[in-house]
Amino acid sequence: MATLSPVLKQATPVLAARGEGVYVYDEAGRAHLDFTAGIGVTSTGHCHPRVVEAAQRQVATLVHGQYTTVMHRPLLTLTERLGEVLPAGLDSLFYVNSGSEAVEAAMRLARQATGRPNIVVFQGSFHGRTIGAASLTTSASKYRSGFGPLMPGVAIAPFPDAFHYGWDEETATRFALRELDQVLATVSAPADTAAFFVEPVLGEGGYVPANTTFLRGLRERADRHGILLVLDEVQTGFGRTGMFWGHEHFAGRPDIVVTAKGLASGFPLSAIAAPTALMEKAWPGSQGGTYGGNAVACAAAIATLDVIQDEKLVENAAERGKELLAGLREVAARHAPGSGPGIGDVRGLGLMAGSEFVTAEGEPDGATASRVQAAASRRGLLLLTCGAQGQVVRMIPPLVVTADQVREGLGLWAEAV
Ligand code: PLP
Repeated sequence: MATLSPVLKQATPVLAARGEGVYVYDEAGRAHLDFTAGIGVTSTGHCHPRVVEAAQRQVATLVHGQYTTVMHRPLLTLTERLGEVLPAGLDSLFYVNSGSEAVEAAMRLARQATGRPNIVVFQGSFHGRTIGAASLTTSASKYRSGFGPLMPGVAIAPFPDAFHYGWDEETATRFALRELDQVLATVSAPADTAAFFVEPVLGEGGYVPANTTFLRGLRERADRHGILLVLDEVQTGFGRTGMFWGHEHFAGRPDIVVTAKGLASGFPLSAIAAPTALMEKAWPGSQGGTYGGNAVACAAAIATLDVIQDEKLVENAAERGKELLAGLREVAARHAPGSGPGIGDVRGLGLMAGSEFVTAEGEPDGATASRVQAAASRRGLLLLTCGAQGQVVRMIPPLVVTADQVREGLGLWAEAV
């Protein structure tokens, strides 16, 4: 008899039978408030009727086309629709299935377009688990060590992570940009550097928002040296942060945007967007994949865009996000670290909110975060952790979450803490 890999068995005790909106129901019929959204994926809620209907219709029409043999209408329509929401000038799209694959595609394109080998990433980054994407990932050693060698040509510069440096944001940003200049001067010469890869909000790295000065600094250096600025919006895109793209908060101007997760409400689909002149640097056959741009996933993505627009989910993420962060700060104020562990910081953007646990000595406290996560789960609140030691408990509810459901989640959170 086959069994699940231990990696899967350990992950969660919840056996989901169905999902509806912000709730997952287990096989015993118990409701779990899902503040994970399948790691930021089911933004329109579980089984949104319009997404279900679009996918069902497409399943009965054409499941799989494959873009090297036949093109299909859902892929073309989705491309048109994404053109309406992408940053100006990013008018060419290429599709694969997951965030990691899209990161690989962006990395390959950046090297093809510039003829340069190196990539600069930022401390705390998470870009995926394929060997290439893992090589760009620095958020925790579990994502990098034990299966090397990783890809050469990756340089790491600091992210303006003010809380962990113990500085204000301005000082942390000045430091990060100065160190980036050092990296360009000593580790990865501009003439060898194809791209900067950066997340508008560090995701797995602990829910740390970037800022305008930092992204402007990256843009300036990219322009000066002919380096491409790749914004990994896999977790921050499609309204998650209270704006359509996370980088809009910080006046970011990307050359390539990487998207996945919230794009198709749970169907495996991801994309990169770039100016046509840049995308043309990829030669036929160098990018592709059997399942990329699947017709059912594309139909679900079109319905997802309709729902985001018609139900004003970006606006909802902004409003509910403020309520969520305010509520988390209230709980944190009652549980500040003192003689024992506590919540040292609450941060986030829109419906990406994290509470960081620290020991009495102020060190990252993954053990307490994990206990609180388990206590929340027992109360019917599904949560995830992130950060290098798993010390941040994060909330990423579906963007359809209501004010009442935010209150329900905060009540369970307060009990668990
Ligand atoms: N990039 C970011 C910012 C992510 O958060 C993730 C996944 O969490 C990825 C890339 C990788 O995506 P996937 O797990 O779909 O390969």
